[in-house]
Amino acid sequence: MRVTVVGTGYVGLVSGTCFSEFGHEIICVDKDADKIERLKAGEIPIYEPGLDQLVEKNVREERLHFTTDLAEAVPGSDAVFIAVGTPSRRGDGHADLSYVYAAAEEIASLLEGYTVVVTKSTVPVGTGREIEKLISNIRPEADFDVASNPEFLREGAAIEDFMRPNRIVIGTDSARAREIMRDLYRPLYLNETPIVNTARETSELIKYASNAFLATKISFINEIADLCEVLGADVQDVARGMGLDKRIGPKFLHAGPGYGGSCFPKDTLALLRTGELNQVPLKIVEAVVDVNRERKLKMADRIIEACGGSVEGKKIAVLGLAFKPNTDDMRESPALDIIPVLQQNGAEVHAFDPAAMEEARNYLTDIRYASSPYDAMDGADALVIVTEWNEFRALDLKRVKSLLNSPLLVDLRNIYAKANPAAEGFDYYGVGKGRVI
Ligand code: NAD
Repeated sequence: MRVTVVGTGYVGLVSGTCFSEFGHEIICVDKDADKIERLKAGEIPIYEPGLDQLVEKNVREERLHFTTDLAEAVPGSDAVFIAVGTPSRRGDGHADLSYVYAAAEEIASLLEGYTVVVTKSTVPVGTGREIEKLISNIRPEADFDVASNPEFLREGAAIEDFMRPNRIVIGTDSARAREIMRDLYRPLYLNETPIVNTARETSELIKYASNAFLATKISFINEIADLCEVLGADVQDVARGMGLDKRIGPKFLHAGPGYGGSCFPKDTLALLRTGELNQVPLKIVEAVVDVNRERKLKMADRIIEACGGSVEGKKIAVLGLAFKPNTDDMRESPALDIIPVLQQNGAEVHAFDPAAMEEARNYLTDIRYASSPYDAMDGADALVIVTEWNEFRALDLKRVKSLLNSPLLVDLRNIYAKANPAAEGFDYYGVGKGRVI
């Protein structure tokens, strides 16, 4: 099958590459000429483990192509995936669909023969219907269907998630479109991956409901962590005790500095706006959003309190800038809430992240980017762990202690909580560890 993927970001590039690995002929299109140039030169513009080898292999085997020109791709494609960004619209939190509609308009003028236009981007309920209208207005004679096929991959584990998903959701009433989608995902059908065939609107909502539910688990355990601190309980044990119940499950019950990233913050907000537009109160999601917003803002205060109430003139080492490990994505990262507040309070920040420092320079100024975790903490008055990269999990604590001015460890991910850093002489602050800070 011949497939066009419009938008070559975290989702488009991974989806296109994995489809080509399935044996399809894929053309990835992006407006960003620099991104396409880099891809053509064999460079991967994002950090995603394993993606470089998979791109290289499929380019070499001539199944994966890159272009800035939609006209080279769309005519003759069996399916055209829209995988452009749908960020929060400035000011009101609705999903900004301008990129999606712009792509749909361009696609409309190029359709040739029957084509399924697929929304891979996360789009509010009703967007598929709007795209259908838009294309029909531009090309009344075009032979096409619009299907919804939301993506559930996680950055940092994107290939594994795409190749071995928990489920595939396909939203369309058209048998023809469903057949093309089935052919596209055939290797996964053969793998017995569960497929949810449903109406387009339902499919669009499944994505938002899933993300909102995961965000709910995070805000929930973060509130329980606050309670643990007051009551002298241990949130990690609480989460384990809860998570062993199969009805609850252990995932997304890690207390921390609040969720970030390119999806949960914007998708929870967009779902709220959908509720409002339709006069359906979504009180739980509203609370989840509020709890998370406040939590991210409170994290810098925790660090300041741990530093004795002031960071004026202090040097703070920050490990981890990306919103989670194994990605360079800085969008809505807790580090973006924490670091500026530390700086406003007079701290000098020295930071290290294994992959996100280049990206972080677009967001954070006046910090020293260190060459290693140990370089960041050399002479620092406190060490703060913001992102739980694996390479931060096994630091040589003796060396850490010898490098720090004072042995103060603020671990916002609880990665050292079980290692008993207090026994090593650290003044240790975790999250939800029965100690109020
Ligand atoms: P991204 O910002 O990394 O990439 C979007 C790309 O689209 C950019 O490279 C941009 O240049 C390109 N683009 C915009 N308009 C274009 C046009 N008209 N023609 C060609 N290219 C165009 O975004 P992303 O993180 O890959 O997310 C894409 C969508 O997938 C969003 O709706 C997001 O919510 C959803 N999603 C993201 C993830 C994730 O983990 N990042 C997971 C699941 C779903």
